[in-house]
Amino acid sequence: KKYGSPAPTIFSKVIDKSIPADIIYEDEKCLAFRDINPQAPVHFLVIPRIPIPRISEAKDDDAELLGHLLVVAKNVAKQESLNKGYRVVINDGQHGAQSVYHLHVHVLGGRTDDVATR
Ligand code: 5GP
Repeated sequence: KKYGSPAPTIFSKVIDKSIPADIIYEDEKCLAFRDINPQAPVHFLVIPRIPIPRISEAKDDDAELLGHLLVVAKNVAKQESLNKGYRVVINDGQHGAQSVYHLHVHVLGGRTDDVATR
């Protein structure tokens, strides 16, 4: 396997639906679901179905999949009516405060204050 056999994470259980999640979009390559501990009024995660542990370990030939995650992030942001903008964040590793080692794209929006002034 391309990414070896990484230790399964909680997101494997979201993917196989063995734990509940508020899934707001899914297709054959990825899914999007609401963060259990939202840091903004709208906070969802986009994850690939294949268990890429972290962005720094992604293979260059997965560029299409990585691009797809961003396309889904912006389409679901629109679906969630984030018409005034939002943040897209990927945390990587210890110094990036990554806690779940299954690649995920955070989308955060719906703040009434201005993120740029914080
Ligand atoms: P990280 O710090 O790794 O970038 O972010 C992991 C995110 O996953 C956190 O925002 C955390 O709240 C979220 N999370 C962790 N476990 C679960 C879970 O079981 N369900 C959902 N929906 N989100 C989770």
